[in-house]
Amino acid sequence: MACFKVAEIFTSINGEGTKAGQPAVFVRFAGCNLNCSYCDTKWANEPDADFKLMDSAMILDTVKKTGIKNITLTGGEPLLREGMYELLKLIADDSFLEAEIETNGSVDLKGFSQIRNRPSFTMDYKLPSSGMEDFMLTENFSVLGSNDTVKFVSGSMADLERALEIIKRYRLTDKCHVYISPVFGSIEPERIVGFMIENKMNGINLQLQLHKIIWNPDMRGV
Ligand code: SF4
Repeated sequence: MACFKVAEIFTSINGEGTKAGQPAVFVRFAGCNLNCSYCDTKWANEPDADFKLMDSAMILDTVKKTGIKNITLTGGEPLLREGMYELLKLIADDSFLEAEIETNGSVDLKGFSQIRNRPSFTMDYKLPSSGMEDFMLTENFSVLGSNDTVKFVSGSMADLERALEIIKRYRLTDKCHVYISPVFGSIEPERIVGFMIENKMNGINLQLQLHKIIWNPDMRGV
């Protein structure tokens, strides 16, 4: 059975996505293939990051002991971890858990999308200010459905223009949920609202990261 490098498991409220505001248990896997300019979990991606080796059974046991049904698999980039397909199948077969997986947009989702009752995807599309846009796999848009989300983390007006272009080109609001979220401290949410109204961005949600509002924005494990 595969063992995963787990950087942390903690309970909090879901700060983003369709379950925002609900209690959730987070499983953060160490390691990422990207290096976004605004990454707030770089500590979990460093080669010498602290982690605990856990197999699927240990992860599920820890998660279920919390009694919380929403589980968010995050990172780093969880979908690059060996054994993730099997873990997702186990989670999908569990009648209690409702899982979502946060993925950075650079990993092919096709294989994972074929898991029966699969977790929902919250896929980032990395905009120019991240420095990582060249790694985005737009083919992933074709496997997204009504339970999935594309999230655009925007740090500038140029990012917002690019998000609008991608949303229109791939008709994302016809497929899945679409969220726009500010890079914390880089752009005022008010400017995003103004842009959304000016461009009549119907069906698109502004998402503020609740955990950064409730707690110190630099706090870990919330
Ligand atoms: S994809 Fe996520 S975890 Fe990886 S560098 Fe970017 S923000 Fe950080």
